[in-house]
Amino acid sequence: MTAQPRIWDIPGGIHPPQNKAQSTARGLEQPPLPERLILPLLQHIGNRAEPLVKPGDQVLKGQVIATASGLFSCPVHAPTSGTVSALGPAPYPHASGLAEPAIIIDSDGEDRWIEAQPVADYRSLEPLALLDRIRDAGISGLGGAGFPTAPKLAARPDHRIDTLIINGAECEPYITSDDMTMRHRAPQIVAGIEVLMHILQPTQVLIGIEDNKPEAIAAMRAAAEQHPMQVVVIPTKYPSGGEKQLIQILTGKEVPSGGLPADIGLLCHNIGTALAVHDAVLLGRPMISRITTLTGAALTRPTNVEALIGTPIQDLLSFAGLRPEQLYRLVMGGPMMGFTLPDSAAPIIKTSNCLLAATHDELPPPPPALPCIRCGLCAEACPAELLPQQLHWFALGKDHEQLQRHNLFDCIECGACAYVCPSSIPLVQYFRAGKAEIRAIEQQHSRAEQSRLRFEHRQQRLQREAEQRERERQARAEKAARAKAAREAQASRQQTEASPAAAPDLARIQSRKASTLSPEQKQLKVAAATARMALQRAQKQLAANPDNTDLQAQIPGLEQAFAEAQQAFEQATAQEAP
Ligand code: SF4
Ligand code: SF4
Repeated sequence: MTAQPRIWDIPGGIHPPQNKAQSTARGLEQPPLPERLILPLLQHIGNRAEPLVKPGDQVLKGQVIATASGLFSCPVHAPTSGTVSALGPAPYPHASGLAEPAIIIDSDGEDRWIEAQPVADYRSLEPLALLDRIRDAGISGLGGAGFPTAPKLAARPDHRIDTLIINGAECEPYITSDDMTMRHRAPQIVAGIEVLMHILQPTQVLIGIEDNKPEAIAAMRAAAEQHPMQVVVIPTKYPSGGEKQLIQILTGKEVPSGGLPADIGLLCHNIGTALAVHDAVLLGRPMISRITTLTGAALTRPTNVEALIGTPIQDLLSFAGLRPEQLYRLVMGGPMMGFTLPDSAAPIIKTSNCLLAATHDELPPPPPALPCIRCGLCAEACPAELLPQQLHWFALGKDHEQLQRHNLFDCIECGACAYVCPSSIPLVQYFRAGKAEIRAIEQQHSRAEQSRLRFEHRQQRLQREAEQRERERQARAEKAARAKAAREAQASRQQTEASPAAAPDLARIQSRKASTLSPEQKQLKVAAATARMALQRAQKQLAANPDNTDLQAQIPGLEQAFAEAQQAFEQATAQEAP
């Protein structure tokens, strides 16, 4: 065993009761195949997937049923074989309780796989081909926000990744899904990490695990022994599993404010993501299941399950022995960063690492918030070195400028500040609301800017078209004038040749015509009139758009053209007059 490398401490942090032992006693269980699965088209950060099936279609397990729409999107696969029974709004695991578009599959009970296409020797593949496999398998981060894995791996093609960090810290109370994944799938996780290493070619790989998971540490050490990667045991402290915090603990480096780990040559992936990469590449299986913790005192048999994505939450709670009369709050995620679900009709999705069915005693309602006493405990607890009491003050006053100046967007919403606040101020709620307001305003500005650019482009296009039409009209007028002059000259010649006696009369007529306008004069007159019209049209357009600098610039040229044309015509007629 290699020596434990140096580790660093992070600022702040707290030590809430862990409550992890309840859900680890039963190992990793397989719940029954659900009769119905609800597959939301949005299970990750980014764009919704686009459905490829319609009601009535038969699907096989692992078949792609919705395709990614854009770079930041993930396809969705059928978690079992059956029939698509509906396509439309369905319950979704979100605090709002609002429905989301989903594909609903009625299971046929046969669980028949589509033909898998594993890669026997992934080292023979180019990294880009492996990225395609990961993208096609619908893998998004299993540890937190659900960022699609393929674009995260390719986030900074111009930055070399020196250190790959695998996050097995799992610091949030109650949640043990990563712990159980490491205990039961360590060799597969290591194989998945090797695939990631082949893609990124890092110089070192560090697997960070908190010291409250001795079985997981032992399993991962055994699996990683012959591989170029190191298991690093870190002290148990919340929130050491935050991406930036774990990076700081393992490397001493700080990700710059507003930046990405890749900016400093680092990339961090969850151990569940490494397992999903193994399944996608070495087994040819897309992401259709995940390991989820079922815990809380309202359950008679808390446990961890390998559940199909789309399994209704109520099915899983029944499997874990829910006592409905005991259930006070149903939380998706942990007590610190999770959110309360309005009911259990929604399914689990790719990011659902835990369902906490808590009793009243377990998660009592927070006491009423009191005014801030400026004790500073929140700032001491903040792992991002922010000033939560200041942020709270600015959020109350909706002072978005100050919120951004005080780095609101560096807040990882860990809840450590609210946990220690003696005034029970729900600080994180204020920070989430502040971020949402700022994002909404930025989107509004961005939309207004896009509208302005679209309007300006349209005006320029219309002007170009008008100018083109004017040029064509002038050309047509000149051509017509030349043709007419030629016809008249021709007619005059023919008349003279056919009737010499009439020549004196014709000469008189021509003389009379000449006393009016010659063909050249007419041409000059037409040119002067055309120049005048062009000038008048531009002046009219400028009156309608006084700020149009292009039009302003054209006017002097058009005025000069008109003056010259008019002068030429007047000179021609003046010469003729004597
Ligand atoms: S911990 Fe609470 S009371 Fe103390 S300074 Fe922070 S917000 Fe104010
Ligand atoms: S929620 Fe934000 S402000 Fe509060 S401790 Fe965590 S990072 Fe700091």
